[in-house]
Amino acid sequence: MNTVIRTVNIDAPEKEYLREAGEILRKGGLVAFPTETVYGLGGNALDEDAAKKIYGAKGRPSDNPLIVHIQEESELISLVKTIPPKAKKMMEAFWPGPLTMIFEKSDKVPHGTTGGLETVAVRMPNHPVALGMIKSAGVPIAAPSANTSGRPSPTLAQHVEEDLSGKIEMILDGGAVGIGIESTILDMTQETPMILRPGYITKGMIENIIGKVEVDKVVVAKSVAEIDGGNYKPKAPGMKYKHYAPKADLIMFEGQIDRVTDAIKAMAKEKISSGYKVGIIATEETKARYNADMVVSIGTRTSEETIAQGLYKVLRDFDETDVDVILGETFYEDELGCAIMNRLIKAAGYKLVQVG
Ligand code: AMP
Ligand code: MG
Repeated sequence: MNTVIRTVNIDAPEKEYLREAGEILRKGGLVAFPTETVYGLGGNALDEDAAKKIYGAKGRPSDNPLIVHIQEESELISLVKTIPPKAKKMMEAFWPGPLTMIFEKSDKVPHGTTGGLETVAVRMPNHPVALGMIKSAGVPIAAPSANTSGRPSPTLAQHVEEDLSGKIEMILDGGAVGIGIESTILDMTQETPMILRPGYITKGMIENIIGKVEVDKVVVAKSVAEIDGGNYKPKAPGMKYKHYAPKADLIMFEGQIDRVTDAIKAMAKEKISSGYKVGIIATEETKARYNADMVVSIGTRTSEETIAQGLYKVLRDFDETDVDVILGETFYEDELGCAIMNRLIKAAGYKLVQVG
């Protein structure tokens, strides 16, 4: 299949491109598009065959449900059984935006989209291209991240091309995304809602609006032991898969930053002398301290936003090189740092060294 790439103006998306994308989606085809979080791979959420194509193009296990994207609140009513009052408050506060909520699904949403579950995940993205495309399609759009399953999520259209060129009808190229990590997922089907995946909308921001929320233990687990030796069943099925991983072995180091850099330097030296090619994930503040085959700054410690933005690109850039081992610094787990660390620990497959 020939994948058509359209470069769109994100401030004023070209109407003909949105029309073209909408038509592909209505006919059951797939279009990758930018959102404020990462690039999504869209298909008609009400069409089981389109959902199958999404799973096929990504190589995604079919029990890992898709998030349904809408462009106005009225579309939610037909997708769900009820809208709990707390969900209404969250919508007012954060939609459009990087918040996905889980509801009891209506009969209109096929099991092919929800991975067989009786619940559905819904989000309204805050991006003119995404909103314009969904409107033009005239149907809700199921969209996981537009990467091959297991690889780091795409934050540039080039990343989508690397993984999905020839497998999907169209890519809308809107340049680099703003946030860089996926939406926060909040399960609204229980009295006390639960965070199933951390993201830009933090626990504190949520609790300011609806009071206490719980956090699925898989979100903050630092080791396989904490998730029952890997047997724990996370509420978001996708959280059980190894994810976001670069091809090289990734090892993260946690502790006081000067000790962390010393420990990374020591391990880098040892690995290099054993003949390995070593990459290091550093920050603006620390990058000058290292010597290795590739030293990359992921962002500045004074702004977690820059780290979220740089994270997946850094992991993908390592895949373009021949490094065998990547050693990485970690970050505070407050606010946005919780989402950053969740992704890094999963990318490392829980290989985490505690330093002093
Ligand atoms: P991605 O599409 O790559 O952003 O991943 C979507 C995430 O949402 C995965 O971790 C899914 O398991 C999760 N998800 C989607 N629908 C549901 C649902 N109905 N219940 C729980 N988690 C869901
Ligand atoms: Mg994904």
